[in-house]
Amino acid sequence: MKEITAKEFSSDVLNPGKVVLDFYSTECPPCEALASKFEDLSKLYGNDIKFLKIYRQQNRVLADKLDVKSSPTLLFYNDGKEIGERLSGGIKRSDIIHNLDLMLPDARLKEIKAQIKPSVSEFDVIILGAGPGGLTAGLYLCQSKINTVMVDIALPGGQVSTTHEVSNYPGFIEPQAGYLLSHNMSEQTKLCGTVYKVAVDITKVDLAKKEVVIDEYETIRAKKIVIATGTTPNLTGAIGEKALKGKGISYCATCDAKFFDNKEVVVIGGGNSAVEESDFISRFASKVTMVHQLEKFTANKKAQDKIFANPKMNIIFNSEPRAFVKDGDKMVSEIENLITGERTKLISDGVFIFIGMKPNIDLFKDKLQLDQWGYIKSDENMQTSISDIYAVGDVTSKKYRQITTAVADGTIAAMAIAKDFF
Ligand SMILES: Cc1cc2nc3c(=O)[nH]c(=O)nc-3n(C[C@H](O)[C@H](O)[C@H](O)COP(=O)(O)OP(=O)(O)OC[C@H]3O[C@@H](n4cnc5c(N)ncnc54)[C@H](O)[C@@H]3O)c2cc1C
Repeated sequence: MKEITAKEFSSDVLNPGKVVLDFYSTECPPCEALASKFEDLSKLYGNDIKFLKIYRQQNRVLADKLDVKSSPTLLFYNDGKEIGERLSGGIKRSDIIHNLDLMLPDARLKEIKAQIKPSVSEFDVIILGAGPGGLTAGLYLCQSKINTVMVDIALPGGQVSTTHEVSNYPGFIEPQAGYLLSHNMSEQTKLCGTVYKVAVDITKVDLAKKEVVIDEYETIRAKKIVIATGTTPNLTGAIGEKALKGKGISYCATCDAKFFDNKEVVVIGGGNSAVEESDFISRFASKVTMVHQLEKFTANKKAQDKIFANPKMNIIFNSEPRAFVKDGDKMVSEIENLITGERTKLISDGVFIFIGMKPNIDLFKDKLQLDQWGYIKSDENMQTSISDIYAVGDVTSKKYRQITTAVADGTIAAMAIAKDFF
């Protein structure tokens, strides 16, 4: 694979032929995560498509001219013209292959794909999920000299990496930016020597065989597996919700209510979490407007009574959010009355959404004992109903889901596992 500079851009890229160009930076974890995939694919597709790298920091003028705003960014060219979609951030092997495949005829692709050789690697422990739970388990296992691989469908960090500020993780006097806290956790575990396979597709998880297949061809085997795949909050589907997650929209009252001292918030939901969390938020906020899609709450009676007696509450039933927009420091929530169809705009300082969470267990849920909400049951060592399969963090059946509780689970699992290796 060739490294070019801005001077060679015209001759190497803007000429007949097919090119994929990687704008990378140093001290860039997503660039590191991409490097081995890019190298590997260059061996496979390299006779047909030129694989080039360019160091973004030293070729800034060109990067700006091409409107490359983050590292890594992959650009695809055919006969000097940029084609397809640019890829950036946590780039998956399958995304690159998708773009490369668009550049070649089917017959040639068949020949190339025939060269892909399945690979098998062996570890002591596979950790599925590199959030705080998985990263802590990885750190303890690595420090016990247990050969561990960390596998994640995204970049390391978990939910913390998308959290604006974390003020309740011990050891820091000032609130920490979520991305920084998760970056530090990840680097600490990586520096110890844990192998990372991140931004991958999980093709198959076989808990009985202790085997995980990633990117369709790479089989990883181990003696034990730690499941640390966390949860995904249910989304309302309203316009703007995804973009404003962590930037005005929160899914955690314990984490964020304190930032709304004497401010007004909107809460979406009407089940136990929404009602109990609204009560908690009202200790800080001056006004809490709850928006619920049904004509009454589904939360338990005691919690409801407390909410109805709370003078800070404003309750809107039979309504759903349709759009969220940020207007300066304010959040605008457009809600629709499901009976009349009328739309109104609620102006607030922040929005909380509590319409349930989903544990990320789709690939292995049939095999494990789960609680009634679908979370994985584990014992005091974090071992699940299957021997040598552990579960830690938010994906487990528990009452409180926080960074500290995930980190604690990771510690317990790793210490219990380490005992079995010595
Ligand atoms: C917006 C927001 C703000 C928050 N703020 C705070 C706060 O201030 N303080 C606090 O203590 N807690 C906070 N929390 C809660 C905290 O983030 C979680 O409790 C914590 O991250 C749980 O860690 P975890 O390792 O169990 O899971 P996660 O952090 O969810 O990490 C799970 C990881 O698993 C990966 N994954 C998912 N599926 C698979 C799969 N099939 N295979 C492999 N990998 C997979 C994901 O990509 C992810 O990286 C917040 C949560 C949210 C959503």
